[in-house]
Amino acid sequence: MKNFLQHHVSFDSLATLFSQAPVALAMLMGENQVVEIANQHILDLWGKSDSIIGKPLLEALPEIKDQEFSKLLREVYRSGKPYNGNNVLAKIEKNGVLSDCYFDFIYSPILKDQEITGVSVVATEVTDKVLSEKKLWESELRFKELVETADYSTAIYKGEDLIIEFANDQMIKTWGKDKSVIGTKLEDAIPELQNQPFIEVLKNVFKTGIPYITQEDKVDLVVGGVLQTFYYNFSYKPLRDSKGEIYAIMNVALNVTELVNARKKAETNEYDYRNLSNAMPQMVWSAGLTGILDYGNSNLLNLLNLTIDEIDQFDFTKIIHPDDLPNVQKVWEEAAKNPQQFEVEYRMFDRKKNEYIWYLTTGTPFFKDGEFYKWIGTNTDINEFKNLVKQKDTFLGIASHELKTPLTSLKLYAQVLEKMLRKSGDEKSAEFAKKMDLQVVKLTSLIGDLLDVTKINSGKIHLNQSCFDFAKLVLETAEEMQMSTSHKIEIYAKNGGMVFADKERIGQVMINLISNAIKYSPDADRIIIETEQKDNNIIYTVKDFGIGMPEDKKHLAFEQYYRVSGDEQSTFPGLGLGLYIAAQIVERSGGKIWVHSILGKGSTFSFSLPLSDC
Ligand code: ADP
Repeated sequence: MKNFLQHHVSFDSLATLFSQAPVALAMLMGENQVVEIANQHILDLWGKSDSIIGKPLLEALPEIKDQEFSKLLREVYRSGKPYNGNNVLAKIEKNGVLSDCYFDFIYSPILKDQEITGVSVVATEVTDKVLSEKKLWESELRFKELVETADYSTAIYKGEDLIIEFANDQMIKTWGKDKSVIGTKLEDAIPELQNQPFIEVLKNVFKTGIPYITQEDKVDLVVGGVLQTFYYNFSYKPLRDSKGEIYAIMNVALNVTELVNARKKAETNEYDYRNLSNAMPQMVWSAGLTGILDYGNSNLLNLLNLTIDEIDQFDFTKIIHPDDLPNVQKVWEEAAKNPQQFEVEYRMFDRKKNEYIWYLTTGTPFFKDGEFYKWIGTNTDINEFKNLVKQKDTFLGIASHELKTPLTSLKLYAQVLEKMLRKSGDEKSAEFAKKMDLQVVKLTSLIGDLLDVTKINSGKIHLNQSCFDFAKLVLETAEEMQMSTSHKIEIYAKNGGMVFADKERIGQVMINLISNAIKYSPDADRIIIETEQKDNNIIYTVKDFGIGMPEDKKHLAFEQYYRVSGDEQSTFPGLGLGLYIAAQIVERSGGKIWVHSILGKGSTFSFSLPLSDC
């Protein structure tokens, strides 16, 4: 050994080199691998002190007996071929603990005079590196697994050619391709991308390093052999190597096609419905329970001179005719309490026409999961109709008024004629004159009804109120009616009372109900009249055993011009005004009117008036 060293450099400088070299060094001499030299580094790696110098290797490090090192060394010693070990695991006892260490090492033969005398060991411990690589690999594996199973489509395109280095199952499915695309160029794998911007965008990301992130982007892909349109939220992000250079692009994408399609459909529906509602001649609106509007079509917005955003602020009380406002408010309040379809007529001020216009508003409640959702309604311009009705009423008023005077004379002449004929003994002709008189009475009553209606409609009806005995009036009217009918009128007056109202008009109502009862029960022979006191009211009831009314029609009986429909119309003459007038008179006298009826069995009409202590 000394000789070998003397041949080259001085022993001291070599020893210094050995001990100070930043690598672990040892010389194992002879067949038994005696540790001839070992610097501090290698002693540290081995976890031993310099007391092992001079000992054979397996004695110095008995723990490596069952490991490969001794064999490898022997092989180098025998063959003279150096051996390179990379990341080799060695189990070494350090401070009494056997631990896993990793080494890179070179075993080289030591030659003396062409003869191998030993093996030099140069080693570096790479435990930290190996462990961290292992950790990295494990986490990479975990990451890969995660990406593979994620709902997101993920792919990595490598190099400027955009070679598909990785694509998870989702991405492969997205493309409508199979695993064979991995390793090919993106543009070859998905040729349909050629006419789309994506390849260009990817190349740009590669060049600039600026990530590309987009939402609901349209992508056309051939899936199942058919070119289809999809929508994706996706990103292209550059991946950089340790030098900071871009080597690949990572693509993460989420298919949002269904979402986008659903939204598009909803948008189209909304667009269609809005056009539909704007095309309507009516005004269309929707509102919450209390009547605050949340939508109005263009007709409504034009009238109000509003934008859709201002509609919930609009104060309708300002443009509704003051005379109609209380009724409109009442209808809304009732509708809010008990949502069901409603109708209301009122005037709204039209600032363009500079006048009030009549509208008919209908509201229909809609419910969601059993709860009130909103009102949907329309306002229809009924101004022309209202004007025509007014014209008709004016005409009827004038006509009936003009007819009344000649009728009064006609009646007088008929009566005089009857008297004269009777005087002259011509009884037969006198009877005709009497019949003439009766027909004139009927005609007068019809014209009276017409006149009453025009008065009611123009608000000109006048009630001549006074205090009278209700029971007495019941008797008077019943007796009067009994004279001209073969029906037996039965009266059950339990008790009477005083009433403050227009006696003549109330009498007219009673007569009207009785004559209807007679008229609509041609096959019966009696009607019943009852009076009864209840809760400070007096109730008057006429019961007949006639044709009755269908349940769904009876509420119409009190409406103007309502008549029995169909064949019955000609059987029972009339104008359909009597009950309307009766209802108006009763209501204006502070009372109520109603009917119970069974089709084919008969009807019971009643009205009530408040009792008075006048
Ligand atoms: P009309 O002149 O037709 O009798 P009314 O206003 O008095 O007009 O009555 C309106 C409608 O109500 C009648 O056409 C008839 O259909 C119905 N009606 C009124 N009274 C009776 C009754 N007692 N029985 C059955 N139907 C009746």
